[in-house]
Amino acid sequence: MGNNIQAPRGTYDVLPDQSAKWQEIEAKIIELCNLYQYKEIRTPIFEHTELFQRGVGDTTDIVTKEMYTFQDRGDRSLTLRPEGTASVVRSFVENKLFGLPDQPVKLFYTGPMFRYERPQAGRMRQFVQFGVEAIGSKDPAIDAEVISLAMELYRSVGLKRLRLVLNSLGDTESRIAHREALVKHFKPRINEFCSDCQTRLEKNPLRILDCKVDRDHPLMATAPSLADYLNEESQAYFDQVKMYLDELGIEYVIDPNLVRGLDYYNHTAFEIMSDAEGFGAITTLCGGGRYNGLVEDLGGPESPGIGFAMSIERLLLALEMEKVEIGQSQNLEVYVIAMDDASKKKAFGIIKELRSNGISADMDYTGRKLKAQMKSADRKGAAYVIVMGETEMASGQVALKEMATGEQQTVAFAEIAGTITKKKSLEE
Ligand code: ATP
Ligand code: MG
Repeated sequence: MGNNIQAPRGTYDVLPDQSAKWQEIEAKIIELCNLYQYKEIRTPIFEHTELFQRGVGDTTDIVTKEMYTFQDRGDRSLTLRPEGTASVVRSFVENKLFGLPDQPVKLFYTGPMFRYERPQAGRMRQFVQFGVEAIGSKDPAIDAEVISLAMELYRSVGLKRLRLVLNSLGDTESRIAHREALVKHFKPRINEFCSDCQTRLEKNPLRILDCKVDRDHPLMATAPSLADYLNEESQAYFDQVKMYLDELGIEYVIDPNLVRGLDYYNHTAFEIMSDAEGFGAITTLCGGGRYNGLVEDLGGPESPGIGFAMSIERLLLALEMEKVEIGQSQNLEVYVIAMDDASKKKAFGIIKELRSNGISADMDYTGRKLKAQMKSADRKGAAYVIVMGETEMASGQVALKEMATGEQQTVAFAEIAGTITKKKSLEE
């Protein structure tokens, strides 16, 4: 054997014994989004690089350090999407969804995202995000709805150790006032900060507060808090979001330092963290916020929006930490054992008939002996086993054996599916 090729760093395979978990989560997402009336949108995996530069922001870690950008054969600069909001907003504008009679337009997506990161548990280079966007409303009730949808998904898979952290970034006026205060605060000692923060001071000083390198610098703790710079309107908006969350019985803690990594947020910003033991450094499961202005930045009419994104990888990690099991794989219903070629041909027809009747069925395809096939039926958790040989072929009947009880019932070929369907409906 030569050098085996492995999956690229930061990527992984979901193997068959794990995929039932993914399917259950995906089914929950669809069910929940239907209840909340968010419709699925599917956008391309790659976009023009400029979309993310404009839509995510030039000063963000994502754009400056993490994008998979390449020139295609036509010399265009394209980027594998690092997140979903920019693409959804691009599509909202391009397809004129702002013209739909029912606003806000409530959308959800799931799919792979790509970021050049240092891989560790819960931080992959290809990961799957589920996100929602509600575009076309600045009603604080929709902020609370979006937050509640995220919380509900975690709860519906059985997570309990959740902490909702909330902040308001205010409107433009509040942010300008705060920005000036930040510059005044950090400027005299900015040379003690990392080079990223030095650039941030000019471009977007708010993001200094989000710095992972300098988080312990004494100036961080004493930095002017946005909360003190919210104007009346922003404060009123924030109060209403909280009021609606209270109405839903959703608990939250306010963290005035929560600023989020993306440039486009204003007003509501939130994260959902896991308090499960053993989670390690990464505890953020979900991040979201309001982005009034992003639609205009990408060429559309005024359409204020709010959304969140969470990765399935971190959700799975949280399940593991809380020791919650999900994703029971469907057990096999009928295993048909054939003793010879003639009965194999008939067995092949029978499993097709079973499947057509909505009954899962399988047989041996490796020419194994009766005993090995029995073992296989056992491993697959078959509820019923049928053995077919000369006798059965001659009589046109089989013994339908129920594995749990050992009971056998004689059934004509043509009645097998009907008999099992009847038994199933009795069990329910
Ligand atoms: P972090 O601070 O953990 O890097 P972020 O601010 O980059 O997070 P967002 O861009 O807000 O994260 O993405 C929203 C969610 O997507 C995160 O809360 C997390 O659940 C998930 N996520 C982000 N990056 C990754 C990754 N590389 N691998 C797996 N999940 C990720
Ligand atoms: Mg990140």
